Amino acid sequence: MSASETSEFNIIRWIRSVTPPARNVPVGIGDDCAAIVLDCRRCLLKIDQTVEGIHFQAAAWRSMPEHVGRKALARPLSDIAAMAGKPLAAVISVLLPALFTAEDTRRLYTGMKGLADEFDTNIVGGDIACGGDRLVISVSVLGESNKRGDVTRSGARPGDALFVTGELGGSILGKHLTFTPRIREALELAEILPLHAMIDISDGLAADLQHVLDESGVGAVLRADSIPISEAARAVARQREGHPLDHALDDGEDYELLFTVPGPAAERVPKELASGVRVSCIGEITSAPGLWMEDASGRRAIQPKGWVHRVGAP
Ligand SMILES: [Mg+2]
Repeated sequence: MSASETSEFNIIRWIRSVTPPARNVPVGIGDDCAAIVLDCRRCLLKIDQTVEGIHFQAAAWRSMPEHVGRKALARPLSDIAAMAGKPLAAVISVLLPALFTAEDTRRLYTGMKGLADEFDTNIVGGDIACGGDRLVISVSVLGESNKRGDVTRSGARPGDALFVTGELGGSILGKHLTFTPRIREALELAEILPLHAMIDISDGLAADLQHVLDESGVGAVLRADSIPISEAARAVARQREGHPLDHALDDGEDYELLFTVPGPAAERVPKELASGVRVSCIGEITSAPGLWMEDASGRRAIQPKGWVHRVGAP
């Protein structure tokens, strides 16, 4: 099979075709979270695996297992944030490497518990298996849908203004292990704004924006000079003799929020949220398909180069 045939997105498309939405699953495979209805109350359900060699290196758990545990919970919490939901409970399954000590395990859970407490999330169960050749952590989170409705990837409309929280790029220098899921920020935004679409940036700004465009059936224009480039992106660009903007567009694992609001509401979007996290307007949604970058020299089409998940042999 070719790489494109085995990409995660193709597999997801097939799984999606054989698992159509059900009456009690209004949002199924393909968005940041699944939404399920229980006793007439709408909930969010999410599972994420965090795997040694993919999401962190062995050196990370050897030196700071707390950070690895924290990240394993923070990833699904970021997806709950992307729907403007509130996390309620988590179940955690871990496969521990043979070299993992009891102290390592305690520190791993300490990292998870600290973050769980920060967001009033109860760790309600899980499973531990030992003797693996690498550390694998699987976390499921149950959340409560926003009373104003789930904010999905499919709601972007032509004329919407496009915003992002925080600063982007260079997460490999540390943020990918220590980021704070934007739960509070998403709840604040949903409270004060008519959010049309939202996603958390895990694969990279360009790649995740493309997910929103695909699901919404629209295009977008980004303004190069409005994209908030992090200091880490500039540092990585210096090391690799690249361009900081490219790192902000494609590095991924920023776990910031990318969202759209109707054009007339754009002026009501605060420049800074209660938590101190800044918000930047980076472009707009267009009816014409495609992803475009605008700078002083004009407008050019761009291709997302962020993280592409592969499934099976290349
Ligand atoms: Mg996501």
